[in-house]
Amino acid sequence: MKVIYIAGYGRSGSTVLDIILGNHSQITGLGEVTYLADDYTSSSRTCACGSPFGRCSFWKDFSSSPPDAELARLLRKVQDLFFIFRLLLGWFTKRDSDAYRSYHNQLFGHVESQTYKPIIVDSSKSARKVAGRFLALHRLAGQDVYVVHLVRNGLATMESLTLTGSNWALEGRIRPPKWPGLRAAFGWALTNLWTSLLGSFLPLDHYMRLRYEDLAADPAGSLRKIGRFCGFDPEELIVRIDRNDYFQVGHLVGGNRIRLQSAIKLRPANPRPQGGRLRVSHRLMFSFTGAWLNRQYGYRGNQANVDKGANAHL
Ligand SMILES: [Zn+2]
Repeated sequence: MKVIYIAGYGRSGSTVLDIILGNHSQITGLGEVTYLADDYTSSSRTCACGSPFGRCSFWKDFSSSPPDAELARLLRKVQDLFFIFRLLLGWFTKRDSDAYRSYHNQLFGHVESQTYKPIIVDSSKSARKVAGRFLALHRLAGQDVYVVHLVRNGLATMESLTLTGSNWALEGRIRPPKWPGLRAAFGWALTNLWTSLLGSFLPLDHYMRLRYEDLAADPAGSLRKIGRFCGFDPEELIVRIDRNDYFQVGHLVGGNRIRLQSAIKLRPANPRPQGGRLRVSHRLMFSFTGAWLNRQYGYRGNQANVDKGANAHL
């Protein structure tokens, strides 16, 4: 089984990319599947199909015993940013690595038994609490992981987070953060930095970076790049995008609220420069934290334009 792991910060279009890839005949999109262990037994969390996980047609037979609290704690522990050094140095117990590997063998084995497709998409991203997930999947679970590091203009991301709020806050999972601007300004820069750094610990050619704006402006070109990188032929998806088809959402875990629609369309790139509605104080914060990295990614100046003039859709 091959894992396409969509890494990066929130509001970068990971759910959209997950849904599009998941419509390929060889690929299953799973969403932020790291939260399945928590969500499986939660009365308030449902699969994207609308059913609780224990009753969803795709997930209900996942396990004879649903993931328990101890396993959820283990997943949280080994994937957290603070565990990274132990992960890199091999300072973890055999018990932890066996449990982690066995859970993921069971999880991905279940997915394969339901779909008979050889590739899965995990879009758990790489914010602090799951910063080490793609490395843990590679090092502890022994999976063949291909990381697509999805970046989006930091100003547009900040605008999206400060004006609409985080996905988790919108769904009542956490309280809205007290300093959303500050949090987003640091979170965007740090998450993208450690994602690039940790990507260098994967085997050669298992990490690529993609700008969401490029995906929105040129989906065919971006999908061909991902296809070459991960080893699948994306043409069947490109034909559907050209036809302006709907893409089925499937049985995603967590992620952006658009997953709650049963199907989505890829909208054309929005010509409006994003980030323009940001408060001056938030813009200033970003100029100290993320502006230099934004330039590294090819986003110009203090506006959320990109050098090809494309903008994202979320
Ligand atoms: Zn479902």
